[in-house]
Amino acid sequence: MVGKKPFKFYKYPNCQSLKFAMDAALPPLTAGTLYLVATPIGNLEDITLRALRVLRECDVVAAEDTRHSGRLLKHFGISKPLLSCFQFNEARRSEEIIERLRRGEKVALVTDAGSPGISDPGERVVKAAIAAGFRVESVPGPCALVAAMTASGLPTDEFHFIGFLPHKSGQRRNKLESLKSFDGTLVLYESPYRVEKLLVELSEVFPEHEVVLARELTKKFEEYLRGKPAELLAMAKKRSLKGEFVVMVGAV
Ligand code: SAM
Repeated sequence: MVGKKPFKFYKYPNCQSLKFAMDAALPPLTAGTLYLVATPIGNLEDITLRALRVLRECDVVAAEDTRHSGRLLKHFGISKPLLSCFQFNEARRSEEIIERLRRGEKVALVTDAGSPGISDPGERVVKAAIAAGFRVESVPGPCALVAAMTASGLPTDEFHFIGFLPHKSGQRRNKLESLKSFDGTLVLYESPYRVEKLLVELSEVFPEHEVVLARELTKKFEEYLRGKPAELLAMAKKRSLKGEFVVMVGAV
């Protein structure tokens, strides 16, 4: 950084003191700010230094599942008041979070895994905070869609993220049909219970397209399964596909 003395790493023989030294050099969090903090999607080593600092220094952590996030905070030796904020109370919680921001609190928002607001709660709180004139900062980090795209081998210059398809068969089919003319990579999230159903649908709508299933990203059994939808379907019938999936469909 221009005008700053270089950091003297040799002065800090272990990580802990290095962490404190780095923290001391950083500006404090800003009062009345909502921080969207990304958390690991499997591998706890993927938490960022900034995420840890924000979680340590904020006043309250709004979490999709307070028990789940409580365990994550405990793992990193952080103790913080937690506020539940999930799909069905997000509207009401937004008002409370705005009130806290008005009092000058620093609020961190986390979800169970990955980046808040990406097929997860967050959008409503963010909209409300912006509308009320508060500062909103992203603390970027893990996100299944980005991790999957990175290692997919499919074109990443143009992609369309769909998130989860609707559950009803007709609506799923219509959505997929409507995407046929898109000339880039399609990215979907899918539950392990519906991944086989999705492969059947893809074999009908996108039979000649290259598909990549990114399974259990950042975890012990991480793998990438590549092939035409019918080939992957045959594979899925031989061995049951378990775990979490990002499904990507390449352009022809
Ligand atoms: N907000 C998260 C993010 O930033 O990726 C996504 C949350 S969404 C509720 C959960 C879905 O993300 C899963 O059903 C799966 O499709 C995908 N996902 C999350 N973690 C994953 C992982 N480790 N490997 C593969 N897919 C994952």
